[in-house]
Amino acid sequence: MAYPDPASNSAKLYERARAVMPGGNSRLTIFQSPYPIYAERGAGCRVYDVDGVERVDFVNNYTSLLHGHADPGIMAAVTAQLARGTCFSFPTELEIGLAELLCERVPALDTVRFTNSGSEAVMVAVKAARAYTNRAKIAKVEGAYHGSYDYVEVSLETPPPAGSEAPPRVAYSRGTPQGVLDDVVVIPFNDPAAASRILLEHARELAAIIFDPLPNRAGLIPASREFVDVLARIARDHGIVLICDEVITFRLGMHGAQHEFGLTPDLTTLGKVIGGGFPIGAVGGKRDVMAVFDPTLPKTAAPHGGTFNANPISMIAGLTAIEAMTSERFAAFNELGAYARKTLQRAMADSGVPAQVTGAGTLFRLHATDRALTDYQSSNPRPDEKRQMAFLTRYLLNAGFVVSPTGLGALSTPMTTREIDAFASAVHDGLRAWSRNPTAS
Ligand code: PMP
Repeated sequence: MAYPDPASNSAKLYERARAVMPGGNSRLTIFQSPYPIYAERGAGCRVYDVDGVERVDFVNNYTSLLHGHADPGIMAAVTAQLARGTCFSFPTELEIGLAELLCERVPALDTVRFTNSGSEAVMVAVKAARAYTNRAKIAKVEGAYHGSYDYVEVSLETPPPAGSEAPPRVAYSRGTPQGVLDDVVVIPFNDPAAASRILLEHARELAAIIFDPLPNRAGLIPASREFVDVLARIARDHGIVLICDEVITFRLGMHGAQHEFGLTPDLTTLGKVIGGGFPIGAVGGKRDVMAVFDPTLPKTAAPHGGTFNANPISMIAGLTAIEAMTSERFAAFNELGAYARKTLQRAMADSGVPAQVTGAGTLFRLHATDRALTDYQSSNPRPDEKRQMAFLTRYLLNAGFVVSPTGLGALSTPMTTREIDAFASAVHDGLRAWSRNPTAS
């Protein structure tokens, strides 16, 4: 069955959804026009929709599934825990286990604290930085996504530069208080000189600098060493809390992406893969900064609760998923990621249509341009590139592969070169089809 099809079960479900959810949607990221494809089940690297169509899943719930769907090890661990209860007003030993594993693997984590999403982890990290420094402002990178929280949503989308020095502060939601905008300093990605100048102007007022070493919305281009060094140096020299957002990049290795930069951030935010397919987030870091949460102190500087924080289902699933990733397994997994990017790049070049792939580890992003991509502005797709990507991702859906509408993809451990070769060949064919009919979308 080809997508879209008004007679499909997905189209019918979407009609029902529209009556009870705004636009029939509960999660902006996965909305798709004219209707989203509804999942029926998943197994390994494959997902099956409610019309019985099988596809290889290269999205993995936006990079959060390391082991694909219904991993037998995770299922067994979760099923055993389900029978013992899913949440209590007592802590469980499982949260200690996952905290120990994370602290053991990431040198920058002296202690950690769990939340239910990456957005919450970021929100709590910002609160911790403010409580620790007694300052209000935060600095963030233009175009970088750090979840649904007013402060970090500032300048998630910015207009092309009008020859201005600093990226503008732009509200993401209507009605964002001016006070929120006033407390955010926006720096351009991978421009150490401009970032340094802007940060130094505000250094004494900054509680935190938050950055993602491989920001998806800024093109899934790695941060340059110089850029990271500038952020780390200014943070250190001015008593600013450096927050490394590894919600996505923790899937890059045993010690996270920060290890690759030789970086020891004050705080790290985690999410996605550490929940083994269940809702999770975590903030961790230096003992003295993390002490703002400590309830044994006479006055807790940053009180933090949450009904489902560290619930035993997310804990056991995350523990099982992460424990399975030994350094040998990570090495092989990342090798497969490098193979995927190389194979995709070759398929794109062979198609003769301008396109390229960025990414690192087991993450990739397809771009409908061969222009040099260095930051948010250069990687932000132009209208014709958006049409080309929309055509390609729909072509891929109908060829049996799922990537995000923006071309983001992530591998899962059940994948092999077979799935990747077939995917690359479909990308090639999709681009060829586009070149024959470039106004279609
Ligand atoms: N930070 C980054 C870098 C992310 O990519 C995301 C989610 N894509 C978040 C934070 C927010 O995580 P969540 O969706 O779990 O709230």
